[in-house]
Amino acid sequence: MKLDAKAIRYLTSEDFRVLAAVEAGSRNHEVVPTPLISQLSGLRGGSGVNRAISNLAKINLIAKVKNAKYDGYRLAYGGLDYLALNAHQKSKTIYSVGNQIGVGKESDIIVVAQHDGSQRIMKIHRLGRISFRTVKTNRDYLRHRSSASWMYMSRLAAMKEFAFMTALRNHGFSVPEPIAQNRHTIVMSLIDAFPLRQIAKVADPAWLYSELMNMILELARYGLIHGDFNEFNILIKEELDDEFKNKGLTEEEEDEHIRLVPVLIDFPQMVSVDHPNAEMYFDRDVECIKRYFKRKFHFVSDSKGPTFAEARKKLAKNPGKRLDVEVEASGFSRKMARELEAYMKDVGVKPDGEARGSDEEDDDEDEEDEEESGSEAEESSEIHETKDSGDLAASTQQLEGLQIS
Ligand code: ADP
Ligand code: MG
Repeated sequence: MKLDAKAIRYLTSEDFRVLAAVEAGSRNHEVVPTPLISQLSGLRGGSGVNRAISNLAKINLIAKVKNAKYDGYRLAYGGLDYLALNAHQKSKTIYSVGNQIGVGKESDIIVVAQHDGSQRIMKIHRLGRISFRTVKTNRDYLRHRSSASWMYMSRLAAMKEFAFMTALRNHGFSVPEPIAQNRHTIVMSLIDAFPLRQIAKVADPAWLYSELMNMILELARYGLIHGDFNEFNILIKEELDDEFKNKGLTEEEEDEHIRLVPVLIDFPQMVSVDHPNAEMYFDRDVECIKRYFKRKFHFVSDSKGPTFAEARKKLAKNPGKRLDVEVEASGFSRKMARELEAYMKDVGVKPDGEARGSDEEDDDEDEEDEEESGSEAEESSEIHETKDSGDLAASTQQLEGLQIS
């Protein structure tokens, strides 16, 4: 279900009105009857509507469904993608679409560009793309939207991620800059960096370790637990301190003064420190880092913690603004959070670490660990086809062919 933006250039405004009509109709129809599409599109005369319908069906943005009672159409993921892209393009958030740099279980990560060629990242949430059919339809939150639940839930995930990224960014956390959210997509700044997972060597693991633990504690001080804090969701940026810039240093000399700056991403599973399972999530985040540093960098910290109790003490003594509360106020309500959480549980959304099979057992077995890091590429390509990730220049070259305006 990769995004294929090629056809978007050939769609007319009529096509988009009809596509939006199918979207609107699917809010309360599993299969949207053709006369309703026509009515919702606001287009007069049936022939235009029929032509648009067949255009859209041909490129799989909508799909024909023969119902017992009537024929109609349902929106496909591609249709939702195009509606979101069209909106981003109209608001000048995106001018062109480039390479897909990541395929997650629940998201696609795509390099996009603005008119001036500067690059951004679009994350398309695809909740339940693997197993939405298995979800029990007697769930409250699905009762009225069983077939469209993937659409609604993916939108909730995007809303949640955008809300948290915004709150975190506004309070000085090292996260991408959130730029826009539309439907199941968000657009954010591109971080020119590799995930920690791909960093073979760190000059001072103790220092990076403590940076990351501080980040976990700092999040808690602001009322939050990331919930998926691991080597896949921490990007490591290399920055040269200003005082060493343009000093004519050789590359090697510069290397000595490079600072590693961790940037945190991927927020759909964030929880409040008041969540009933907060301690479990907190400990899991801490453990992920401990385990990874031990395995990859052979670093084990002298101190045991941090523990959730310590984090709470910090919060009580020197509270940051409660971002869990701020996010609720920003429009991502507690009810939405509950719906999303229940759905993610039902469709079996797992944290990145677990999804990639790096569970507790392979903890102390050094030999196996070595092997495992050797087969990293294979392991991650299964879930995260990160194609020559980091080779962002190559992505740019592709942009021109895929302008969407
Ligand atoms: P998922 O929910 O599928 O795990 P993530 O948000 O973690 O999605 O993104 C998956 C991968 O895409 C990351 O590990 C990273 O390599 C890349 N990525 C995501 N966001 C950005 C960004 N803003 N800048 C650069 N790379 C990114
Ligand atoms: Mg991730």
